[in-house]
Amino acid sequence: MTVPIAKLSFWGVRGSTPTVDPATWRYGGNTPCLELIAPDGTQFILDCGTGLRMLGSRWAAPNGGKNPETHIFVTHYHWDHIQGIPFFSPLYVENNEFHFYSFRSKYLGRDSLKQVFEAQMALPYFPVDMSAMNAKRKFKEVDGGDSFTIRENKITARWLNHPQGCLGFRIETPGGTVAYATDNEPGDAKLDASLRELAAGADIFINDAQFTPEQLATTRKGWGHSSWLEGVRVAREAGAKTLVLFHHDPDSTDRMVDLLLKRAREEFDSVFAASEGMVITLGAPGEGVQAHMPGTRTALRREAQFHAKVSGLTEGGKAFEEETMVRDLSLQGALISLKHLPQLQSELQVTMEAPGENGVQAMKLRGYVVRIDEGAEKGHVAVGVVFTD
Ligand SMILES: [Zn+2]
Ligand SMILES: [Zn+2]
Repeated sequence: MTVPIAKLSFWGVRGSTPTVDPATWRYGGNTPCLELIAPDGTQFILDCGTGLRMLGSRWAAPNGGKNPETHIFVTHYHWDHIQGIPFFSPLYVENNEFHFYSFRSKYLGRDSLKQVFEAQMALPYFPVDMSAMNAKRKFKEVDGGDSFTIRENKITARWLNHPQGCLGFRIETPGGTVAYATDNEPGDAKLDASLRELAAGADIFINDAQFTPEQLATTRKGWGHSSWLEGVRVAREAGAKTLVLFHHDPDSTDRMVDLLLKRAREEFDSVFAASEGMVITLGAPGEGVQAHMPGTRTALRREAQFHAKVSGLTEGGKAFEEETMVRDLSLQGALISLKHLPQLQSELQVTMEAPGENGVQAMKLRGYVVRIDEGAEKGHVAVGVVFTD
């Protein structure tokens, strides 16, 4: 019997507007787009922010192209959730078929999402019109409260508290349950309850964490977003297993997101900050949830050999110190072989012995764990770090 495994990929995690500021590089600057491959091969795409373009350029049709069918859920019509659509290349390929789901906006009326497509591609906003989009497109209206199944997966939609409305989606697959609740603000009793319904017992609960709790209580009240602290509260009350902080503020640097994540981890066991390129596997044997960062975003590396002392925290939160060799180094980071398994997105102190003019010198660097792979040596893991100073 094969184990049902679902794979959740983060293609865009930034809220409001894309960022290209180097200080936001590590978590990424593309606006919301997630991809969930269910164990039965069904491909779900959640939101069509600028991350959708990257998904399109690496696109592999589900089921090896035999039955190219993809289900795309759009939470609402704010720019950051739709602006990737014209740049999603699979939409221009004739044999592809896409099922779009979104709500009827009172500002647009019938076929809201279809109208959004047409308006986005109307001249002079975009150089080609809709007739260039050759893929089959089917549009389905969903309402908060709806529940339906797609093959062996159950979808639930609920309204969230956000200006002009926003839907949250819960997808239950045989590999695990993902609740996607971006763009929501606490404070409306009925919608707060809907959010908890979506998150109830979910393996992965993705929640808006754009603002700090202080901002949310003062200057950003009423803007339609949430904080890491609210996410922790909901995760706890609803019994969600892993919380993912999402929709990072365009003004939040990587260092600021690091800090929000650190605080959230002090309050809740399993938290990640959504990061472009991050892949979470659900339902793999032994562990409920495994997070990985693929190596594609790391810089070109040079082979090197430095003696290093590495200290940090393990997955279980225990401090460790270990001596190793750094063999793979770039200006931005290094690949380090370790016997200990550090926690993804945690900080490591790396002290390297580097030969200099006055003999061997110790070079102290602060590293941040961005990926963990199986090590080349037995009993080791290969840990990718980005140096943060
Ligand atoms: Zn948004
Ligand atoms: Zn919004």
